Amino acid sequence: MAKHWFEERDPFSPIQYRYAGARPLYSARSELQEIQVLESDFFGRMLVLDGVVQLTERDEFLYHEMLVHVPMHSHVAPKSVLIVGGGDGGALREVLKHESVERVTLVEMDREVIEVAKKFFPDMAAGFASPLVTVRHGDGAAFLDDEGRQFDIILVDSTDPVGPSTSLSTPEFFRSASEALNDGGVFAMQTESLHFHADYVDRVQRALKAAFGAVDLYGAPIATYAGNWWTFALASHAPIGREPVREPAPGLRIYCRELHRSAFVPSKALTCFTSLGSGPYRRG
Ligand code: SAM
Repeated sequence: MAKHWFEERDPFSPIQYRYAGARPLYSARSELQEIQVLESDFFGRMLVLDGVVQLTERDEFLYHEMLVHVPMHSHVAPKSVLIVGGGDGGALREVLKHESVERVTLVEMDREVIEVAKKFFPDMAAGFASPLVTVRHGDGAAFLDDEGRQFDIILVDSTDPVGPSTSLSTPEFFRSASEALNDGGVFAMQTESLHFHADYVDRVQRALKAAFGAVDLYGAPIATYAGNWWTFALASHAPIGREPVREPAPGLRIYCRELHRSAFVPSKALTCFTSLGSGPYRRG
């Protein structure tokens, strides 16, 4: 029997995960949220915000490679990239693997998350030292409101769509993001689980289509996110294919041409899960 158990407090999941052998390493309250770092026998170090697991050392590569490399390989040569959220540095690490990238702006509302990531996940957060990177603190939605059109890629790597991150899935935010995207640019964001949040996935797909013109849906099986069949929305001003447009960047653990192709979710799957309804449990 494991000595330490960590029980997740995910307010918007119909199931709660318990992690065996997860010892506390760090715990503090920032101005915005409770930040914890745990060390688990199986998952390695884990970052937890407000009781919800954000990443584990064991499987973060799958989430970050899929969030970042599907949109990045849908663009011939992305130069300017915006990451909204992503204070752990995982998405940033992946973006910097693309040689075409000249500048990355990361807008994170909680500076403490970045400091904790640098201390407890130094390899993942190494990209913050890059001269190509500018970090801004604040709400990503407010930041985009003030921006002109200037990004080839916009990635939203946020917490679940509750509290401060609700500003990142509104029609207004998507309109600002569409205006800030260069011609030929690609927008991507994580949109929760097909099993548990199909209504939310569907709502975001429709709102993105209205704001950008073209939208698609892909997924990846993330072990530590409730519902596991995690989804990502892809949006652009004109339809983009479901094939990478160039060879994979160097240093990737799992992303490859075959995974890119096979990740896309047929619209029938979304219709199927949406038709199940949310029952007594609702999200978004
Ligand atoms: N991969 C993770 C997941 O899906 O659970 C997300 C990880 S990353 C730590 C999420 C970050 O988004 C948090 O550090 C949080 O502070 C930030 N965030 C949430 N809402 C935001 C907003 N409106 N603007 C900027 N950053 C935001």
